[in-house]
Amino acid sequence: MSGILVYALHHDGAFNSNSLGAVSEGARLAGELGTQCHALVLGERAGLPDDLCASLGAYGAAKVFRVEGPEGLAQPVVDAMAKVIGEGGHDYALFGGGLLGFEIGAGLSARLDAGVCMEVTNVRVDERSGDEDAGRGRGRLVAERPILQDSQVSDVHYASRVGVIIGRLNAFEVKQADGAGDAAVEDVAVEFAPHSLRATMVTRGEQRGAEVNIEDADILVAGGRGLGKAEGFQQLEELAGVLGGAVAATRAVVDAGWFSYSAQIGQTGKTVSPKLYLAAGISGAIQHKVGMQGSENIVAINKDANAPIFEFSDLGIVGDLNKIVPKLTEAVKARKGG
Ligand SMILES: Cc1cc2nc3c(=O)[nH]c(=O)nc-3n(C[C@H](O)[C@H](O)[C@H](O)COP(=O)(O)OP(=O)(O)OC[C@H]3O[C@@H](n4cnc5c(N)ncnc54)[C@H](O)[C@@H]3O)c2cc1C
Repeated sequence: MSGILVYALHHDGAFNSNSLGAVSEGARLAGELGTQCHALVLGERAGLPDDLCASLGAYGAAKVFRVEGPEGLAQPVVDAMAKVIGEGGHDYALFGGGLLGFEIGAGLSARLDAGVCMEVTNVRVDERSGDEDAGRGRGRLVAERPILQDSQVSDVHYASRVGVIIGRLNAFEVKQADGAGDAAVEDVAVEFAPHSLRATMVTRGEQRGAEVNIEDADILVAGGRGLGKAEGFQQLEELAGVLGGAVAATRAVVDAGWFSYSAQIGQTGKTVSPKLYLAAGISGAIQHKVGMQGSENIVAINKDANAPIFEFSDLGIVGDLNKIVPKLTEAVKARKGG
């Protein structure tokens, strides 16, 4: 059969929201193509109980292929997806983005000689080309990828039998499928290539400035060079703490070693879309903007009234962040009764 196979990354008994978004997107596209969306999960058997795997049905996965193997590494997933696609005849492999998705997608593309497009922000069905390609369902997928610093969008068509689509981080909305029940769970035994097992997971953790995962945080307090020094981030940590959010950063401060690289937002960092993005001491360069412009509400604090960030902020505060941020923290604390 044809279909879409999505890789779902899990950790500590939960799927990450980026993967759930990819499953939701896969299900939407499969519906339009008249085919099915399947998911593949890989890890220690004990960490992948039936109910966890079946829960992907709520996001539209008709079936979940469960593979026992070392968790969190790219090559074993490449082996597993290549086997499932080889036997199942899936037309597309879809990933939600992130470093692991990029690595698996690239490996799978090489293994299957499949076309690959990454940093995809939207996928649509191109009905016109459907008839030319028997066996692919009613139409073919076209991946939309922003280019030239997100000022243009290119359409990517796949000429290969299998197409690999790698989304931009959090580009696909997490959506529960209407009336969907549990997904069927099928165990698949995969013999991993010797080279796939040469890497081992030594330790696993989040290298974050706060306890909260920045891609999943509803509130982000981001700092830039206007903080003046690495210690400037302490006041942002405090504000993020009282707001229940996480701290993010620009490339300028990450390059300066003031904050963790994993918190960098922008063209060469992460793409986020929180409910609130509070930018302190950030000028609003295009390379930063592309990573946070999807935020629901943008609030900027900058001492320069002409800073570009005010052009795309919902609320702008002109002033010294060193005075405003502590006052804001106190105000939030007072409001929360603490
Ligand atoms: C290929 C390429 C890729 C890039 N990728 C990224 C990326 O992924 N992410 C990214 O962020 N950047 C990226 N950049 C860098 C980007 O172009 C900018 O240089 C960077 O975003 C600027 O960071 P900033 O806003 O912290 O610093 P600045 O541009 O120096 O801005 C600092 C701001 O702080 C304000 N300020 C100073 N003191 C105070 C104060 N006391 N109170 C309030 N405001 C104050 C200033 O008015 C100024 O607007 C990339 C660049 C290139 C060329």
